[in-house]
Amino acid sequence: MKAISRALADGARLLKASDTARLDAELLMAEALNIARDRLLLSPPERKTVPKRFWAMVERRQAGEPVAYITGRRAFWNIELHVGPGVLIPRPDSEVLIASALEHFEGIAAPGCILDLGTGPGTLLLAALDLWPKADGIGIDSSRRALSYAAANARRLGLDSRADFRLGDWAEGVDGPFDLILCNPPYVATDAELGPGVAEFEPPEALFAGPEGLDNLRRLAPEFPRLLAKGGIAAVEIGPDQAAGAADLLAIDGLSGRVAQDLAGRPRAILLTWV
Ligand code: GLN
Repeated sequence: MKAISRALADGARLLKASDTARLDAELLMAEALNIARDRLLLSPPERKTVPKRFWAMVERRQAGEPVAYITGRRAFWNIELHVGPGVLIPRPDSEVLIASALEHFEGIAAPGCILDLGTGPGTLLLAALDLWPKADGIGIDSSRRALSYAAANARRLGLDSRADFRLGDWAEGVDGPFDLILCNPPYVATDAELGPGVAEFEPPEALFAGPEGLDNLRRLAPEFPRLLAKGGIAAVEIGPDQAAGAADLLAIDGLSGRVAQDLAGRPRAILLTWV
């Protein structure tokens, strides 16, 4: 126990450039020991030595690599997703899309069919299918690599019979309507600053969307009226400074848009419903 707690403290010190140094060290240690983080904290294994792997992982983290690429996994809402280089890492910011959908369907019939545009490793679709056990869904992405992660995640979570992952160009060739549409498109402005390690390690095609970050929304906006079922909801992730521009783009043809905020209180999604 002593060896591990000492190594955790040393690891956290080595990672002090990270905002979440102690958490990073714990996640890496849990991975190195092949146990869950709560087990590491609640009943740490008695060991005299720390696996060498731990120090190798700390070194990668010191070089700025995201923890999720080092451990190969990331928790999101109620599930854990496997991820790796070439696929966008799920972020807690995106959980507001799921929370908003839950709120929308509270007390009414659960969504039957779900569409996730730009599904990446399956993040939003798989979290939603896990929440609504009778729903089916389609996840679209333009990256084969992302889709192979998504399909593997669906299998591992036992959701593959209800998740149909397709290579595609947004909603081209997709027939609606859907009760729930989830979409976390690339929305970062070309010259915007990103969090530490994001631009260096994560796939640019999952992040950037033209000079204002709105290129994908311009392309997607006309699709929602045909894709969204009456009584349904579409939750589209945005950057914190895009609320007004995105709402103008998306609230068309009888759709009304409202802004939802992330856990830090910043605008993070436009919620579209029929008026
Ligand atoms: N929220 C992400 C970031 O700023 C961007 C994700 C996206 O463009 N969909 O790191």
